[in-house]
Amino acid sequence: MFGRMNDPAAIKVLIVNEEGQYLAGTAAHWEFTEDRSVAKVFDYLQDHVADQIRLVRRAYGKVWVAVRLDPSETFEFCDRCGGRMSAVEAFFDGQQFFCTDCKIHSQPAPACGPA
Ligand SMILES: [Zn+2]
Repeated sequence: MFGRMNDPAAIKVLIVNEEGQYLAGTAAHWEFTEDRSVAKVFDYLQDHVADQIRLVRRAYGKVWVAVRLDPSETFEFCDRCGGRMSAVEAFFDGQQFFCTDCKIHSQPAPACGPA
Protein backbone atom coordinates (compact mmCIF):
# COMPACT_ATOMS: atom_id res chain seq x y z
CA MET A 1 0.00 0.00 0.00
CA PHE A 2 1.34 3.34 -1.02
CA GLY A 3 0.78 6.57 0.78
CA ARG A 4 2.14 5.69 4.14
CA MET A 5 1.86 8.49 6.59
CA ASN A 6 4.98 10.53 7.20
CA ASP A 7 7.07 8.43 4.88
CA PRO A 8 10.50 10.05 5.14
CA ALA A 9 11.21 9.23 1.50
CA ALA A 10 8.14 11.05 0.23
CA ILE A 11 8.75 14.48 -1.21
CA LYS A 12 5.51 16.42 -1.40
CA VAL A 13 5.34 19.15 -4.00
CA LEU A 14 2.94 21.56 -5.64
CA ILE A 15 3.09 22.32 -9.33
CA VAL A 16 3.20 25.98 -10.28
CA ASN A 17 2.75 27.44 -13.75
CA GLU A 18 4.34 30.48 -15.34
CA GLU A 19 1.71 32.75 -13.81
CA GLY A 20 2.49 31.48 -10.34
CA GLN A 21 -0.78 29.59 -10.12
CA TYR A 22 -1.08 26.19 -8.52
CA LEU A 23 -2.26 23.08 -10.28
CA ALA A 24 -5.46 21.81 -8.72
CA GLY A 25 -8.38 19.56 -9.51
CA THR A 26 -8.23 15.96 -10.65
CA ALA A 27 -6.74 14.03 -13.53
CA ALA A 28 -10.11 14.34 -15.28
CA HIS A 29 -10.19 18.09 -14.93
CA TRP A 30 -7.02 19.96 -14.16
CA GLU A 31 -7.13 23.65 -13.48
CA PHE A 32 -4.87 26.30 -12.09
CA THR A 33 -5.75 28.31 -9.07
CA GLU A 34 -4.27 31.15 -7.05
CA ASP A 35 -5.51 29.45 -3.91
CA ARG A 36 -2.63 27.49 -2.52
CA SER A 37 -4.87 25.73 -0.02
CA VAL A 38 -6.70 23.82 -2.77
CA ALA A 39 -3.59 23.03 -4.78
CA LYS A 40 -3.09 19.39 -5.53
CA VAL A 41 -0.26 17.84 -3.57
CA PHE A 42 1.92 15.50 -5.57
CA ASP A 43 4.40 12.96 -4.46
CA TYR A 44 7.46 13.94 -6.39
CA LEU A 45 8.64 10.39 -7.02
CA GLN A 46 5.45 8.33 -6.99
CA ASP A 47 3.59 10.81 -9.21
CA HIS A 48 6.56 11.17 -11.57
CA VAL A 49 6.39 14.90 -11.30
CA ALA A 50 9.68 15.53 -13.07
CA ASP A 51 8.50 13.48 -16.05
CA GLN A 52 5.14 15.25 -16.15
CA ILE A 53 6.80 18.64 -16.14
CA ARG A 54 9.11 17.58 -18.93
CA LEU A 55 6.18 16.26 -20.97
CA VAL A 56 4.21 19.46 -20.58
CA ARG A 57 7.19 21.53 -21.59
CA ARG A 58 7.74 19.42 -24.68
CA ALA A 59 4.08 19.09 -25.69
CA TYR A 60 2.79 22.54 -24.83
CA GLY A 61 5.87 24.67 -24.37
CA LYS A 62 4.72 25.51 -20.87
CA VAL A 63 7.15 25.87 -18.05
CA TRP A 64 5.85 24.33 -14.87
CA VAL A 65 7.90 24.02 -11.76
CA ALA A 66 7.56 21.86 -8.70
CA VAL A 67 7.79 23.61 -5.40
CA ARG A 68 8.42 21.63 -2.33
CA LEU A 69 5.87 21.84 0.43
CA ASP A 70 7.13 23.21 3.65
CA PRO A 71 7.06 20.43 6.26
CA SER A 72 4.73 22.57 8.32
CA GLU A 73 2.16 22.48 5.52
CA THR A 74 2.49 18.82 4.72
CA PHE A 75 -0.94 17.39 4.26
CA GLU A 76 -2.37 14.29 5.76
CA PHE A 77 -5.31 12.41 4.38
CA CYS A 78 -8.19 11.55 6.62
CA ASP A 79 -8.42 7.79 7.05
CA ARG A 80 -12.18 8.01 7.34
CA CYS A 81 -13.40 10.36 4.62
CA GLY A 82 -10.22 10.68 2.58
CA GLY A 83 -10.30 14.45 2.85
CA ARG A 84 -7.13 16.44 2.85
CA MET A 85 -6.06 18.47 5.81
CA SER A 86 -2.93 20.10 7.03
CA ALA A 87 -0.80 18.05 9.36
CA VAL A 88 -1.46 20.67 11.97
CA GLU A 89 -5.20 19.99 11.83
CA ALA A 90 -4.87 16.24 11.64
CA PHE A 91 -6.01 14.30 14.63
CA PHE A 92 -4.11 11.09 15.22
CA ASP A 93 -5.67 8.55 17.54
CA GLY A 94 -2.67 6.25 17.59
CA GLN A 95 -3.80 4.25 14.58
CA GLN A 96 -5.47 6.56 12.11
CA PHE A 97 -5.58 10.16 11.06
CA PHE A 98 -8.84 12.01 11.16
CA CYS A 99 -9.85 15.41 9.95
CA THR A 100 -11.56 17.70 12.38
CA ASP A 101 -15.01 16.63 11.18
CA CYS A 102 -14.32 12.93 11.47
CA LYS A 103 -12.65 13.35 14.78
CA ILE A 104 -15.97 14.61 16.03
CA HIS A 105 -17.94 11.87 14.29
CA SER A 106 -15.46 9.05 14.61
CA GLN A 107 -16.89 7.19 17.58
CA PRO A 108 -17.04 4.28 17.33
CA ALA A 109 -14.18 3.42 15.03
CA PRO A 110 -15.02 3.24 11.32
CA ALA A 111 -16.14 -0.09 9.93
CA CYS A 112 -13.29 -0.30 7.46
CA GLY A 113 -10.65 -0.12 10.12
CA PRO A 114 -7.00 -1.07 9.75
CA ALA A 115 -6.28 -4.58 8.56
ZN1 LIG B 1 -12.49 13.02 7.55
